[in-house]
Amino acid sequence: MTDKYQHILLAIDFSEQSELIAAKAKELSRLYRAKLSIVHVLDNIAMPDTAYDTVIPLDQDSHDEALEAEKNKLIDIADSLDIDRNCRWLVWGVPKQEIIQVADEQQADLIVVGSHGRHGLELLLGSTANAILHHANCDVIAVRLRDA
Ligand code: AMP
Repeated sequence: MTDKYQHILLAIDFSEQSELIAAKAKELSRLYRAKLSIVHVLDNIAMPDTAYDTVIPLDQDSHDEALEAEKNKLIDIADSLDIDRNCRWLVWGVPKQEIIQVADEQQADLIVVGSHGRHGLELLLGSTANAILHHANCDVIAVRLRDA
């Protein structure tokens, strides 16, 4: 056991403010000399019948335009952060569940997410950051995002 983070998982939804969250995760990984992984969960495009697994290989052509676009976004951001090819996760499912699952399976000890600072009914209905904060088995850093 060490008090230094060793494996940081960055959860990215490709929204406008993703760069800010990514920059914080990168800086943390530099400070702690920790491995950095990245995950994006596909929750709004259909899973093709040909898919056998919920984890999408990034090195294979899928013949699906929407999926290719998401893959390329993940590859671009992972390249810009210099994230190892084996540390890039594109998975189908419910973001909060899949992010926690990848963190568990890959033994990440810190998850970095963005948070819009919701309150009231919106918070009760549940944000991804809030759910991860309550259910993750490791530490979570929520980067405060300001709405434009
Ligand atoms: P939200 O609660 O939807 O505003 O999302 C808050 C944060 O959760 C985002 O800034 C991301 O860090 C993460 N997140 C939300 N949706 C996804 C997704 N589909 N894939 C990966 N991370 C996500």
